[in-house]
Amino acid sequence: MKTLPGKELAAAIRAQTQAEAAAGRQPRLAVVVATADEASLWYVRSIAKAAAGVGIACDLVDLGPGATPDQIGETLARLSADANVHAVMLQTPLPEGASAQELAGAIDPRKDVDGANPLSLGRLAAGLPAFPPATAAAVMALLDHYEVELEGRRTVVVGRSTVVGKPLAHLLLDRNATVTVCHSRTRDLASVTSTAEVLVAAAGRAGLVGAAHVAPGAVVIDVGTNPTEDGGLTGDVASDEVAGVAGALTPVPGGVGPVTTALLLRHTARAANLP
Ligand code: NAD
Repeated sequence: MKTLPGKELAAAIRAQTQAEAAAGRQPRLAVVVATADEASLWYVRSIAKAAAGVGIACDLVDLGPGATPDQIGETLARLSADANVHAVMLQTPLPEGASAQELAGAIDPRKDVDGANPLSLGRLAAGLPAFPPATAAAVMALLDHYEVELEGRRTVVVGRSTVVGKPLAHLLLDRNATVTVCHSRTRDLASVTSTAEVLVAAAGRAGLVGAAHVAPGAVVIDVGTNPTEDGGLTGDVASDEVAGVAGALTPVPGGVGPVTTALLLRHTARAANLP
């Protein structure tokens, strides 16, 4: 089985983004945070560091875990109206009672570099230009980088979240794949996933996808990032057993994750230079 790492692709995207950022006005990304969740804070700090590495300014707007939905919404609206800010992202999780999907409606779609505004998803579904969520875009970028044919092929996405599964289904449809979406209520998951020539696991359940879920030779993209007891990360795919069946598999960590961050920066550089 072939391993499909994302680091090299991520580095190429960052290099291209750095050139784009240097050619136009300096892009500025604002990341709104309202959590004390350590993993989430680690992620936003990694975005800020990666942004600095490619010449993108990144402001962490930390409202604290006690922020109200009104405060978050007003902050997103203010940043959307600020001509010096080109890209706005709302980090999850949010405080109890705050809905990311409701609040993301306050992000100007032209600055919505992580495709969180429902308008962006609607435009994607309609085949109109929009920023897709960076994770969904990262899956497509990996498939393209490794020259995985999509046209007419049986593709199964496990997970139907607004940030990954649903937008990804639309991006795959746009490429003429035959798309099936599975979720927590799907009966006999293995009977569906084992028909896939291209299988994407995005359920957030460690080891959900085992050998019985995978067709011989299938290309498997593992989006899952599940914390392990020793402080590491593991995917949704039981890689040890799937390695004996699949044709190719992305690693976790080092697969979809680095490409996601790189694409968020690419989207930011493009948002800064929209006509
Ligand atoms: P989510 O919890 O919002 O959605 C999970 C989806 O999986 C749901 O649609 C649910 O129906 C489905 N699901 C859950 N259990 C299932 C089961 N037993 N069988 C079939 N389907 C099942 O999660 P999300 O935000 O979409 O994230 C999914 C995973 O991707 C998580 O592990 C998350 O950490 C990871 N993620 C990774 C990146 C990255 O850059 N690598 C970015 C975003 C999310």
